[in-house]
Amino acid sequence: MKRDRIIFDLIEQEKQRQLKGIELIASENFVSAQVLEAMGSVLTNKYAEGYPAKRYYGGCEVVDQSETIAMERLKKLFDAEWVNVQPHSGAQANAAVFLAVLNPGDTFLGLNLSHGGHLSHGSPVNSSGILYRATEYNVKEETGRVDYDQMQEVAMRCRPKLIVGGGSAYSREWDYGRMRRIADSVGALLMIDMAHPAGLIAAGLLDNPLRYAHIVTSTTHKTLRGPRGGILLMGKDFVNPWGKTTPKGELKTLSQLLDSAVFPGIQGGPLEHVIAAKAVAFGQALEPEYKTYQTQVKNNAAALAQAFMDKGYKIISDGTDNHSMLIDLRPKFPGLTGKAAEKALVAADITVNKNMVPFDSRSPFQTSGIRVGTPAISTRGAREAFMGEIVELIDAVLSKPENDSGIAAVRAEVNARMRHYPLFAGES
Ligand SMILES: *Cc1c(COP(=O)(O)O)cnc(C)c1O
Repeated sequence: MKRDRIIFDLIEQEKQRQLKGIELIASENFVSAQVLEAMGSVLTNKYAEGYPAKRYYGGCEVVDQSETIAMERLKKLFDAEWVNVQPHSGAQANAAVFLAVLNPGDTFLGLNLSHGGHLSHGSPVNSSGILYRATEYNVKEETGRVDYDQMQEVAMRCRPKLIVGGGSAYSREWDYGRMRRIADSVGALLMIDMAHPAGLIAAGLLDNPLRYAHIVTSTTHKTLRGPRGGILLMGKDFVNPWGKTTPKGELKTLSQLLDSAVFPGIQGGPLEHVIAAKAVAFGQALEPEYKTYQTQVKNNAAALAQAFMDKGYKIISDGTDNHSMLIDLRPKFPGLTGKAAEKALVAADITVNKNMVPFDSRSPFQTSGIRVGTPAISTRGAREAFMGEIVELIDAVLSKPENDSGIAAVRAEVNARMRHYPLFAGES
């Protein structure tokens, strides 16, 4: 067979783009060579609908083992009694929970998308907002932190069956205990989506939501540093509160409802190559070096936020507890949109994404903010001292976003700097 030059040239181009730039997208990371190897393996050839030892296809003896190992390692990592490693993505994991615990038209409560929430938590263009009745809580304008009093108030008024915590642009620790009390006060289930901070949680650097929530969902490719995918977890399994029974008349547990919601509810065959890569990533996360890495992610984020603030930038909530931060560009550059900032920075090989800030005066297409995070740059080996330099480079671009020669000079410096950092610092 002749080599597909077109596609492999593009893959090489993408690798070069990743190598030469400063990657600050808070939801991205660089996987290890072993995670990549598992993902590119012959396990992709295998159909394995069902779960280990309960498959609808023959020949699953090997993938039964790799999937079971992924599950066991994941349980150990988060102190979970039950997990499901099959969701193809974070959004799929969330859709499975909604399918398992809600009926179409049921009410649930999640963080306002423009205040740091996620599309899959009730956006009108996502199945969560199309099939179910989504209500929302906000952050406080003065503090940029979740308004738990308002969450309680909306919960009392709207009587959701499910309360959802977690977000994609929220840089503060969550009060999971308070959320559980709010959920209990209205008879709702509590789901925490830890897609963003999962790696910091696995390393013990943030509170573990499995101790408070009925159900926890996550991606595996953000701070956690595994392959692109999703997972479901429970600290403790329990009997469903709606009296749903098996054909034999026994009460179903939540784990049974969730397993059926993933397959056959919303997915077909699992991606066994990705599940094997998840197992590799979970194994790496159980090693002592992982805590060193996550500590660096957190320290880098704190240093980056401080350097931005020292330079006069407004950080929502005036700092960060995790790996990410949201910058409101308006106080420093009133005329600069998030869209224009993203474009100018990308031209300098500094990758960020535009993001709505809470109470934004601009549309989601323009936005007044950018979101930045440190998981990827930390995987490449960057330390605190580099964070101040990054802010200088960003400031040079954003101060003159139309100055092409200025941007070219920054890009040359970025490329020269990044030449010394491998994609994955643990390997050469
Ligand atoms: C990234 C993210 C997701 C979605 O993950 P995908 O893998 O892109 O589907 C879900 N929830 C939150 C909070 C996220 O940040």
